[in-house]
Amino acid sequence: MAGATRYLPYYDDLLEALATPGCAFCLLQQRTAERYLDALLWESVNDPSLRREVSAARGFCRSHAWLLVRPGAALSAAILYKDVLLGAARTLQNASAQRPSLWQRLRTWLRRPNPQEDPVVRALAAQRTCPACTNARAVEQHLCATVGTAIQRSDEFLLRYRSSSGLCLDHFSTLTAALQPSRLRQPLWEAQSAVWQRLDTELAEFIRKNDHRFRGEAFGVERDAWERAIALTSGPQPAATSTRGGLTQSR
Ligand SMILES: [Zn+2]
Ligand SMILES: [Zn+2]
Repeated sequence: MAGATRYLPYYDDLLEALATPGCAFCLLQQRTAERYLDALLWESVNDPSLRREVSAARGFCRSHAWLLVRPGAALSAAILYKDVLLGAARTLQNASAQRPSLWQRLRTWLRRPNPQEDPVVRALAAQRTCPACTNARAVEQHLCATVGTAIQRSDEFLLRYRSSSGLCLDHFSTLTAALQPSRLRQPLWEAQSAVWQRLDTELAEFIRKNDHRFRGEAFGVERDAWERAIALTSGPQPAATSTRGGLTQSR
């Protein structure tokens, strides 16, 4: 069948990620963010429009910003964040120089002001989404589309999914909402339920072996079930810094 063999973007990556511990979507998004930042640090840092984008976002979000800490990236990070700081300083200067309107003064006088409505707070807030998050979101959409096509083509994806760590709750919900046609949801839910069931059994075993009556029993695969349960619901532990190398090692 021609449709079954036609190239499906990200499919091989997805299968490989499903064979790796942790949420496959989180892993692929992390890799995408690393590549995105590679390109930005080594090729686009002198692009004024890109720097304006980063500045308007008030820098990267917390999880992406710390991926900038990698060998050889210090100068590019310094150039980018100089713009971010300058942008914030200018915004503060402009916003603080503006006198509140009569309506704003009246509202402040009449009721307790909402800090989010404060013009200085509003001006200092990110004016756009973290560019690495925007990129990650686009990849997420591609992944969802690929899963939809893969499920329709063969049983391979769901079989691999069942024996994987499953998706974290966030990504499972995102995929559920995006999956088209909606009849594909049921087999996906069954696969995720099988993952949860397996982990639940391991958690029960971990708890049982912590009982003083069974202390003599050695721990098996359930040893880190509690950590996997955290990752499966709340997402993986944020990377403290990037594991990527410098210029010569960038892919
Ligand atoms: Zn995830
Ligand atoms: Zn981000």
